[in-house]
Amino acid sequence: MSATAVAPTAAGPGSERLGIHVQGLTKHFRRKNGDLVAAVDGVTLEIERGEFWVLLGPSGCGKTTLLRCIAGLEEPDGGELSVDGRPVYSRERRIHVPTERRGIGMVFQGYALWPHMNVRSNVAFPLTTGPRRNRPPRKEIDRRVREALELVGIPELIEQPVGLLSGGQQQRVSLARAIAAGNDVVLFDEPLSNVDAKVREQLRVEIRSLQRRLGFTALYVTHDQEEAMELADKIAVLSNGNVVQLGSADDIYNNPRTRYVAEFIGAANVIEGTLVRDAGGARVRTAIGEIAVATVPADLGDDVVVISRAHRWWVSTEPRQGENTWVGTVETIAHFGSHLQLTVKVGQQILKVWTDPEHVSTSGGAEVWVGVEPAACLLMGDA
Ligand code: ADP
Ligand code: MG
Repeated sequence: MSATAVAPTAAGPGSERLGIHVQGLTKHFRRKNGDLVAAVDGVTLEIERGEFWVLLGPSGCGKTTLLRCIAGLEEPDGGELSVDGRPVYSRERRIHVPTERRGIGMVFQGYALWPHMNVRSNVAFPLTTGPRRNRPPRKEIDRRVREALELVGIPELIEQPVGLLSGGQQQRVSLARAIAAGNDVVLFDEPLSNVDAKVREQLRVEIRSLQRRLGFTALYVTHDQEEAMELADKIAVLSNGNVVQLGSADDIYNNPRTRYVAEFIGAANVIEGTLVRDAGGARVRTAIGEIAVATVPADLGDDVVVISRAHRWWVSTEPRQGENTWVGTVETIAHFGSHLQLTVKVGQQILKVWTDPEHVSTSGGAEVWVGVEPAACLLMGDA
């Protein structure tokens, strides 16, 4: 760090642009049987102001724990945290700013609303608690509550008891509560997993457009890859408390770095095999025969997996021959509107193939030929 740095922060140079900075954060839990679990295991994230990030990972990978640490609801056991350039936690420097002074809004899966209170009181709640000197005047609170309810599209429900609202409406109330408090950072923990599919779609779009308009920094947790793809500026894929890949949706979809990421995001065919390198180029020997691949990453051992996206495969009802071409049997056919998904059994391997519904007419049990370009086959270690 330069000697002329204005103020020492946990984040170091450039931190003035950071909305949320997480540095080497760890949090362990002791299970009832005495085992120690690393729920968050050295996570580092540099989220710039106004960005929308999604933390994506399966149940149990540490998403909620990480959010709770950032919010101050859980005390980490190592690392550093700052919000809008202000350190809020540092083990080393013994900083632990309490939740209510972190300036963070939260929208949870279970809504965390007061069911017996009306919408107005719920939305106003964060503004009417805490030290009296920090509370805005009543008129100001009232204005902010109304404005937030307008923004989330439920101004008419202001007097309604929250217990009488639908799941989607309750989630709008929690969103309004986070907005009314005027926080620059809002954390979302699977906020849409309890609402039905149609409302979920709609709220997703609304959350994103509200975030763009108001400009807050968002960190959104989900196990739903589609949701992640739709919302995120950047996605951090989490596994066992670690960020295993970080990038744009596009990047993560097209260049998954591990089998775990490839299988978690998008429809992928994963075929195990042994790498063969000779004058004929690189091929992988597998249970369904040899697969030609275009490029081999450096430092790859012999045990590999070939990963290819379902939409990169072709299917034909006419016999075909050539490199990376197989004959198989149609197991299932699913219509997804934009594409048709076939599962095709080649030997013992089930392959997913996405194709244009207009392009192929076939039925379960039929014989088809399938194939994939070598350039569409990614190679990685079998870990
Ligand atoms: P996610 O939100 O991704 O489903 P969590 O953060 O809830 O994951 O949990 C991560 C891991 O930490 C899990 O193994 C979970 O069992 C464990 N864990 C979470 N909270 C506690 C707790 N209070 N006590 C003990 N273990 C916990
Ligand atoms: Mg969770």
